Amino acid sequence: MNTTPQANNILNGHVNIRKYFKQVRARLIIGLMVSFILPYAAFSVYFHFQFNNTLKKTGILNLTALSESQRNTIDLFLQERVVNLFNLFHSSEFNLNPTRHDMEYHLQHLRQVSDAFIDVGFLNTKGVQKGYAGPFPNLEGRDYSNEEWFKTLMNHQQEYFISDIYLGFRKKPHFTIATRQLIDGRFYVMRSTLDPDKFYMFLRSISHGKEVECSIINNKGLYQIVDPDRGELLGLSDYLPEQTASPGVKEIKKNGDTVIIAYAWLKETPWALLVRQPLSIVHAGMYHTRRIMIAGLTFILIIVGGLISFTAYRLIGHVQTIAEKRDELQYQLVHASKLASVGELATGVAHEINNPLAIITATSGVIRDMLDPAFDLDSSPENIIKELDTIDSAAFRARKITRQLLEMGRKNTPRLVLCNVNNILDEVMSGIKEREFKVEDIKVLCEYEPDIPEILLDHDQIRQVFLNLINNAGDAISGPGTVTIATHSDDKNVYVTITDTGVGIAPEKIDRIFNPFFTTKDIGKGTGLGLSVSLGIVESMGGIINVQSLKGSGSSFTVSFPLQNLKGVEDGEKNSGK
Ligand code: ADP
Repeated sequence: MNTTPQANNILNGHVNIRKYFKQVRARLIIGLMVSFILPYAAFSVYFHFQFNNTLKKTGILNLTALSESQRNTIDLFLQERVVNLFNLFHSSEFNLNPTRHDMEYHLQHLRQVSDAFIDVGFLNTKGVQKGYAGPFPNLEGRDYSNEEWFKTLMNHQQEYFISDIYLGFRKKPHFTIATRQLIDGRFYVMRSTLDPDKFYMFLRSISHGKEVECSIINNKGLYQIVDPDRGELLGLSDYLPEQTASPGVKEIKKNGDTVIIAYAWLKETPWALLVRQPLSIVHAGMYHTRRIMIAGLTFILIIVGGLISFTAYRLIGHVQTIAEKRDELQYQLVHASKLASVGELATGVAHEINNPLAIITATSGVIRDMLDPAFDLDSSPENIIKELDTIDSAAFRARKITRQLLEMGRKNTPRLVLCNVNNILDEVMSGIKEREFKVEDIKVLCEYEPDIPEILLDHDQIRQVFLNLINNAGDAISGPGTVTIATHSDDKNVYVTITDTGVGIAPEKIDRIFNPFFTTKDIGKGTGLGLSVSLGIVESMGGIINVQSLKGSGSSFTVSFPLQNLKGVEDGEKNSGK
């Protein structure tokens, strides 16, 4: 598809605009994301950690509270069993020489309260079991005087005694609760064996559903009650907490797993209750919350990111359309103003050409009348030639205008060759011009820089420029005057200055002298195209024209040409010569 240069410009413009807005859109999106999402993410992370911390603390507090409440329950359980045993001393069936039947009655009474009771025995002051009811009847009459618990009780240290779990005579794990009672100045003991399995079941029922594991150890770290998966009864525990009145908590690592152990020492007996929970379960709430937070954060990020992108796309889309429309409008404006200039130019041309044409028409009418005998005019050849001269000069004037117009409209790139401006000025001045000036009493001064650098110029066109400027200088002088033609150069430019001692230019007109068809000269003398054509030529060669003028004193026109890179030029010339 063929496209015009303007269309190409617009097309390129639109491509650039799109590229630019793509970058703006990317920057906008990144900016919005960073300014919104980063603080949001930072706050989320901060609150997440705060929340996790709180959750962890809460988990540990819960475990500690559980161990404390369970400890209290176990203490209460043991206290109740002690009281149950004490109560036997005060039962109506109690006597110092109990029969088997009496003891059976006591055991039945105890078992009604708790099925942890296995048997019951009544010991006299010497530690001999005088009465017994339970699964081991041969224990009746057995001497317990050397047993630790019996000694402790008799030493008046405690009203009751709860033993550790032990195997004893019956070789089966059990523990003993013994109570003593002063009767007629002597101590008697009521003891009972309790089944640790029942105790274990009781403990299990407490911890049930809490995803914790409970065990009881004595002050040597031996398991008193334990889950079979954790260890053996009377086996050594992996953890023995220090004996403190208040419950505590400890984090221990085993086989790569971290376990939180909350502990509480019992008040009734030197046993510690250990409540274990893996850290993963303590943190379960935290992980759950983290998952919800991450999902929420991702969801919000997607929504916000989508919204930001959508808004940025729409916004930038609008601005882009406006920018594209603006560019198109601008192009249309430039085009319209060009059309207006062409219109102006056409009016000027029409005006300038109409004058010579009118002269030609009128003069040819005069000749026709001269040749008509009816008018009886002087039709001598001299007279006719005079009129024909008028026609000639009008035709020449019209031709001059059209030539200058052609020059102005010429789009050809100048044919640049290395030129010496001094030589071109000499060419212009030699011959007719010099003689003309002499006739008009105008002195010409040439002040050339002798070794002026050669520069790249279109010889013919620049000759035309100098001629125009020198003509204008001459036209500005009426009567005697001076036209000075000077050249000089510096590191950057070559300067040609044409100064006259003429009428000068009024400040209000100085801005208009380069406009086409602006002239102050008499009709038939000036076309108003000289300076505008000259400026076009000079600019096409990279130069400029400066004007200085004082009304009534004279004017000075300076043409400056930049010094070209002569090496590059020489190369160019060599190439063109091949
Ligand atoms: P023209 O010479 O046909 O009028 P130009 O474009 O060469 O057209 O000049 C335009 C006008 O600029 C002149 O009519 C004149 O008024 C003014 N001008 C140009 N050169 C000089 C000068 N050296 N001194 C005074 N006026 C000048």
